[in-house]
Amino acid sequence: MDAHPRCSRQPAVLLVGALILTLVAAGCGSDAAGSSGSNGRLHVVTTVSPITSIAANVIGDKAAITGIVPEGTNSHTFEPPPSAAEVLSEADVVFVNGLKLEDPTLELAEQSKREGAQLVQLGTTVLPESEWIYDFSFPKEEGKANPHLWTDPLYAIKYAQMIRDTMAKRDPANKTVYEANYTAFEQNATALSEALKTDQATIPAGKRELLTYHDAYAYFARDYGWKVIGAIQPKNFEDPTPREVAALIDQAKREQVPTIFGSEVFPSAVLAQIGKETGARYEDTLRDDDLPGKPGDPEHSWLGLMRYDYRTMITGLGGTTTALDALDTADVAPDKAIYPQ
Ligand SMILES: [Zn+2]
Repeated sequence: MDAHPRCSRQPAVLLVGALILTLVAAGCGSDAAGSSGSNGRLHVVTTVSPITSIAANVIGDKAAITGIVPEGTNSHTFEPPPSAAEVLSEADVVFVNGLKLEDPTLELAEQSKREGAQLVQLGTTVLPESEWIYDFSFPKEEGKANPHLWTDPLYAIKYAQMIRDTMAKRDPANKTVYEANYTAFEQNATALSEALKTDQATIPAGKRELLTYHDAYAYFARDYGWKVIGAIQPKNFEDPTPREVAALIDQAKREQVPTIFGSEVFPSAVLAQIGKETGARYEDTLRDDDLPGKPGDPEHSWLGLMRYDYRTMITGLGGTTTALDALDTADVAPDKAIYPQ
């Protein structure tokens, strides 16, 4: 990141007759927007790439946006490098998922943040604790709820609302831009949600079931009427025990699961083995926080990510995706965010 000048003007000293007036340069630190970013823009820091993309859709180029978590890494165990402290120290607003997903990054942000900087935990704010979902991969006794709200369009819209409201307050000069971008994003996310409902209806009866390695679809499943019949990733990201694997094989056979879903970030030999022993196809390309393509590609967006996953799940279970295929997944505002790779 390039250094950007803070308030560089020195107090001006004026001689007026016998009086020495010391005037503190106006505008230094008094701007409500704290316009300290490059070209006077705010600096926004985000964590995982779906949140970076949602922020970029709402904010466009009205603020400088920098993601912290590199795409394709395990965001659940990610430890921010020392360089992240510098990025965080320059932030005006930091948007994290929360729900304990990025605790080391959040801790570093607390330590490094400058005066007036704002930390916003999107998931923790939009999801009351009474609705937290715990499961095999995110057991209650560990106190860490399943943090994957952004794979559910209803919550992605709530994230965008919070980003809009936070930015409108911090940067009122661009309030109307944030509102217009939010409205366009909300329409696209709703169109995705409608296309998903249309296409998932083509899955043969009783087969709207997910057996996954990485359990990124708990809230999605609850809201869209899917069943997560198993998620095999234990809380320590290792492989499940042989006894647990045997139980999953029995279950997959019993329910005649046509496809089991791995994640491209978490290759799983065990899922491959379950596939072999049950005759199910092992589809290992689901992704929960690694956007498709490269930064700048049209599908490199939250919308592109979710369309990819929903198509993969629906076609894997015997459905067709005409409505999702026809969707326009273009960003609603220019995405100039920095996505570490
Ligand atoms: Zn995840």
